[in-house]
Amino acid sequence: MIDIHCHILPGADDGAQSLSDSINMARKAVEQGIHTIVASPHHLNNSYENPKRQILDRVKELNQLLQQENIDVKILPGQEVRVYGDMLEGYTTGEILPVNHTPYVLVEFPSNHVPRYTEKLFYDLQMNGLIPVIVHPERNREIIERSDLLYQLVKKGALTQITASSVCGDFGKKVKNFSLQLVDANLTHFIASDAHNITNRTFKMREALAIIEKKYGNELVYYFEENAALLIEGLSVYKEDPERIKKKKIFNLF
Ligand code: FE
Repeated sequence: MIDIHCHILPGADDGAQSLSDSINMARKAVEQGIHTIVASPHHLNNSYENPKRQILDRVKELNQLLQQENIDVKILPGQEVRVYGDMLEGYTTGEILPVNHTPYVLVEFPSNHVPRYTEKLFYDLQMNGLIPVIVHPERNREIIERSDLLYQLVKKGALTQITASSVCGDFGKKVKNFSLQLVDANLTHFIASDAHNITNRTFKMREALAIIEKKYGNELVYYFEENAALLIEGLSVYKEDPERIKKKKIFNLF
């Protein structure tokens, strides 16, 4: 299994704080059946900064360490970019790092809204050969309330990644149900862990895929696994025509 979003780099952000944290996470990943992990530290935040060059160096170091420890996981470079107006400029100046040097770039929105410039920015990114992958849309308050925003972005070429622990219900029933609605409406293309540690923000990939298999069958598990494999190779991923999520009529609630 491949995990395309994980905070496993030591001391880079709010994920692994030390090399031993990273090693513990890698061991946990192996237990889950994960053999490849995209390290995707937050690009910028008040307290940390992870430009491309630094991530590449740290990924190299971590791979060497995992090899020494005989842990059979390969780390690929990536970055979780909080959307910002000058993101394209950040890419051209070598600040932004798409997943494993492919066209796919992981983009995060603020948790409570979607900036209005996003559609234009995504258009510009795509015109420059990049494909935005919106991470955890199921945890964005505005998207939950106005799923049409996500529909429009996907219709115009963006991809999305839901979080394994959201599917498992760790962020509550509302987020779990919305995650499954995104699957139903062809509005998501990847499942990833977004693991930060091995306690309260761990992998849950196996558990999430078991839920998907039970509800949708093995074909959808294959779809998600295959898409992760295609993404890290920079190949075209599978996608179906997105649909709008229908608002439940009030009487359906009773
Ligand atoms: Fe993340």
